[in-house]
Amino acid sequence: MKKYQNFVTNGFHFKPDQPEYWQTYLINNILLILIPIFIFLIILNIFVHRLYLIAFIDTVAILFAMFLLIYFHRKNDIKRTSLFSVILYTSLLIAYIIISGPSDYAFAWIMVFPPISYFLLGRNTGRLVTILSFIVIFMGILVFSPPWLSNDLNLLSFINLLFAAICVTILISFSELSRAKAYDFIKLKNEELMRLSHTDALTGISNRLKLDEVMMKELARIRRGTPHFSVLMGDLDLFKRVNDNYGHLAGDQILVEIASAITMICRLSDTVGRWGGEEFLIICPETSGEGAMILAEKIRRSVEMLPLHRYGTVTISLGVTQSKLDDDINTIIHRADKALYLAKSAGRNQVRSVFSTEIQLSLDETIVS
Ligand code: GH3
Ligand code: MG
Ligand code: MG
Repeated sequence: MKKYQNFVTNGFHFKPDQPEYWQTYLINNILLILIPIFIFLIILNIFVHRLYLIAFIDTVAILFAMFLLIYFHRKNDIKRTSLFSVILYTSLLIAYIIISGPSDYAFAWIMVFPPISYFLLGRNTGRLVTILSFIVIFMGILVFSPPWLSNDLNLLSFINLLFAAICVTILISFSELSRAKAYDFIKLKNEELMRLSHTDALTGISNRLKLDEVMMKELARIRRGTPHFSVLMGDLDLFKRVNDNYGHLAGDQILVEIASAITMICRLSDTVGRWGGEEFLIICPETSGEGAMILAEKIRRSVEMLPLHRYGTVTISLGVTQSKLDDDINTIIHRADKALYLAKSAGRNQVRSVFSTEIQLSLDETIVS
């Protein structure tokens, strides 16, 4: 069962919440089912009916289905395989209608056409291919088979089948439209939820969840051999006092302005986030500790210069560290935190770095300002 699941999903390339998963499932099942059916038809047509031309068409169909299966599993190209599967179905349908006379029992299979092509080719291509195939089939019968018609397809059956086919096509169109709209709506809402769950409500910069995720990704990247990343931890100086003097709302407004100032200074590839109350964390991919020190100093200076009008001057202290191969989130935050502590102890409004956990050795400790 597991092997079958693995086969019909092309090795689980897609997840069940993606439309491609179910398209893959359907294509594989249709092609798989076609093979035994056509083997049976070949035997029937050769040994019972002695209809060798039809047996030949069946053989071509089987080979085509097998080729498509192999192609699909090699390339995993849903679009092309879908298109070829629909072409296979149309060709077989036309061949069946021609061979059978035409007859209403062959013609009835036209009803399967709209759902298959809409599902596999999508709404727009599905509609186009359905209408084109219907025109070819209905016009073909009209042009080649009058006067009406064979015993197996009289005028009344023809008209009924024609209108039934049009109704099915319209219904499938509506059903696909509502499905697509619902899917787009859910996708949009999911993206919005995802954004909200990663954003700090007050400042609009990344929140802790997002910062953790980015650090996890960066740690995975440096283990694959990309250059190291750096982390800056900033904490506003004596912010309690600002709150006491001007109130919490003013404090909030200052946090928003500082967050936006820091974001302006950093690169788009950096992640600027709020680590805690008035603490910021900046993750700089592919950035050395020295580069991060320069950025930290820029941030320190621009916060100091920020025109906060009647609130006077607010300053920030920053701790900087660079990633190491054996780091996890805790060790890297621990070093940034230590560097920040050094900056605070040195009198605030400073930048300090800790590049090694053994800070007492302080060989690789850089001090700026
Ligand atoms: P230090 O220089 O040692 O950092 O002094 P500090 O007063 O900033 O001390 P600490 O970092 O411990 O301060 C945290 C203060 O920041 C507590 C609170 O008054 C303020 N704060 C934290 N989060 C918020 C917030 O979301 N809005 C506002 N307005 N103030 C906050
Ligand atoms: Mg503080
Ligand atoms: Mg703090």
